[in-house]
Amino acid sequence: MRNCDVAIVGAGPYGLSLAAHLKAARVNFRIFGTPMGYWRNHMPRGMHLKSEGFASSLYDPGSCFTLQTYCREQGLPYAHMGSPVPLEVFTSYGLEFQRRFVPMLEDKNVKSLRRAEGEFRVELENKESFTAARVVVAVGLTYFQHLPPELAHLPEEFVTHSSRHSALEAFKGREVAVVGGGASALDIAALLHQAGAAVEVIARVSKLRFQDPPENVNPSLLDRLRNPPTGIGPGWKLFLCANMPLLFRLMPEHFRLEKVRKILGPAPCWFTKQQVDGNVALDLGTTIREVSIEGGRVRLQLTDNVGATKTVTTDHVIAATGFKPDLGRLSFLTSDIVSAIRCVDKTPILSSNFESTFQNLFFIGVTAANTFGPLLRFAVGARFAAPRLAKHLKRTAPRDLARDGSASTSRTTSEREVRETVAQ
Ligand SMILES: Cc1cc2nc3c(=O)[nH]c(=O)nc-3n(C[C@H](O)[C@H](O)[C@H](O)COP(=O)(O)OP(=O)(O)OC[C@H]3O[C@@H](n4cnc5c(N)ncnc54)[C@H](O)[C@@H]3O)c2cc1C
Repeated sequence: MRNCDVAIVGAGPYGLSLAAHLKAARVNFRIFGTPMGYWRNHMPRGMHLKSEGFASSLYDPGSCFTLQTYCREQGLPYAHMGSPVPLEVFTSYGLEFQRRFVPMLEDKNVKSLRRAEGEFRVELENKESFTAARVVVAVGLTYFQHLPPELAHLPEEFVTHSSRHSALEAFKGREVAVVGGGASALDIAALLHQAGAAVEVIARVSKLRFQDPPENVNPSLLDRLRNPPTGIGPGWKLFLCANMPLLFRLMPEHFRLEKVRKILGPAPCWFTKQQVDGNVALDLGTTIREVSIEGGRVRLQLTDNVGATKTVTTDHVIAATGFKPDLGRLSFLTSDIVSAIRCVDKTPILSSNFESTFQNLFFIGVTAANTFGPLLRFAVGARFAAPRLAKHLKRTAPRDLARDGSASTSRTTSEREVRETVAQ
């Protein structure tokens, strides 16, 4: 048993960026999770990121090791804007970030977290347990996949959520219906077609609204003033969300919830359009009325906007129906912790330092979006969250656990040390 001050649960862009900052600040911590696990195991291979190159980094103190730096080192193509980042490049960059800045990562899942004598007792999946004074939850979308009720009861052999798939080769020669009209649905539909499946998209929307390509990848000062580019998209509304998450937090609750729900809906990307057009059958403006399994196939009864019905029979249904953050679904949290956390719309109400109403329990990433805004739904939000939370954890570290044994207590990592790490 090794006790620690801070335990980070999750090793995606948020957990890793926070760890890099805590390491530099000499805070005593441990971090758990599969590095870039969600991106490697729950997104379809061949996908491209929706975020632009300049908004697709992890963050070390000083932001030295960016995606751009990595691509330059590896001789890979890179552009700030207008050149979609392949998933495989982003994940290999994230793994390299982990290797250089967070080598102490423990690739194990946290199985349970419970309160014990004023601290947290953390149990890992290998049965190891230890205590931590503070815990940061950075598990992204892992627990939040949403299946509509009409599909939820069917066996996985016939219906799966889009997040269950990274390799799509197994669908070669099969018929697949993809349910959903957003980015995940259209991405996976295009990639299934490339993998040799016959694909049909079923969506309630009557028209697919693809995002526009960036108008100008080298905007002039005047263009920037008219339509400022930000890490979460262009325009003044998004500029405010991207740059003022602390102000967003002070807005009335109904305003915040509405903005998080509406801003940056799940529009598919401009570059997916050409992959889908003519390659994928579209059933738009339709609602699924009934689903059954007949003769080893899935039978979907659809109704369109004017009441006409249609039946689609297929080998498999992939529900690209999104995610619903819900604290109650974080199965590693005991029920007494969950019930002690004050929530809004099933996500924790957070202090300006990401602390929930359960003292010393912090949340970053998508579960913090209802507090800080849509920025926190994207990797680029780690640029705000990681330094801010690291500073707070450093300032409030309990005296007896404040130090990483190997480190001096007051010094923070110098710029030179960060540069040496980047150069490794
Ligand atoms: C299809 C799709 C495409 C997307 N495209 C983009 C994009 O282009 N740009 C963008 O910015 N965002 C995109 N997103 C959103 C993306 O999920 C977030 O931006 C990003 O992953 C947030 O990082 P994170 O660290 O919070 O979570 P994640 O990257 O999801 O990482 C979660 C981590 O938690 C770990 N974990 C989970 N449970 C446990 C446990 N019990 N114990 C220990 N570890 C655990 C996982 O192994 C993983 O390491 C996309 C999402 C989807 C679904």
